[in-house]
Amino acid sequence: MVYRNTDPPCCSFCLRFLEKDPPEFRCDGCKLECYCSTACKDEARRLYHSSDGECAAFEAGIEAEAIDFEFGDVPERFLLRVLSQAGGWRTPGGPMVVGAGVDRVRMLQAHVPAPDTEERGRLAGISRNTLRLMDESVEDGVRVVDPSGDEPATTSRYGEAELTQLLCSVNCNAHTLYANDRSSLVPVGIAVYLQGSAFNHSCVPSAEFCNVGTSLTVRSLRRVQAGEEITVSYVPTTMNLKERRRCLEGQYKFVCACARCVAEDVS
Ligand SMILES: [Zn+2]
Ligand SMILES: [Zn+2]
Ligand SMILES: [Zn+2]
Repeated sequence: MVYRNTDPPCCSFCLRFLEKDPPEFRCDGCKLECYCSTACKDEARRLYHSSDGECAAFEAGIEAEAIDFEFGDVPERFLLRVLSQAGGWRTPGGPMVVGAGVDRVRMLQAHVPAPDTEERGRLAGISRNTLRLMDESVEDGVRVVDPSGDEPATTSRYGEAELTQLLCSVNCNAHTLYANDRSSLVPVGIAVYLQGSAFNHSCVPSAEFCNVGTSLTVRSLRRVQAGEEITVSYVPTTMNLKERRRCLEGQYKFVCACARCVAEDVS
């Protein structure tokens, strides 16, 4: 998902920098999403940005800003995108689809704060607000159907608890997106990659992630032996031990015990 008001503006679908500012092709509904072509606009509409679904929810978020509501890109708008793109949600009261990806995102590594903590309360509030923006019942949540199941289709729900878990998964696994231009170092958005989320961390990684546009590439940094685990660093490897520990514990809730951390801890 591309952030609001990137500078320079870039296509919400393919992440190319836009030649014209203001953009030529803007979503007529929410006016948030901008595109480089009608082809990108139509594809976004077809795949997730439906007029009664995500677009209407974005519009509701922007309208609510007039009454002191903060409709942030992260996590508020991104959560709606995950439910629409990975979940297949298209309209209030309409279902998400089991196996469409959203469950796989929810099952990724996540650190859900303990019940009755301030942080858990904050996330639960975001979940409830998300359901309100979607015009879904806060009590019942979003319906999830399994069309391949026995008739009638088996149904479950994504309510406050499920959305909170999803928020935590997204927080733990999100990647920064850069515009579809190899020289660009300007962060323009955020994405979660199911396969990219499988790599474990090391402070002496054997590979690194490289984002260009919506694609994620994993590039080896040295020769990798057959059968050796491929690792990446979740933090810049130029950080010292103290900085790495602070970042890793803060966002990913673990203390790294890789060879480099052990060696630097002793010295
Ligand atoms: Zn485009
Ligand atoms: Zn729209
Ligand atoms: Zn380490």
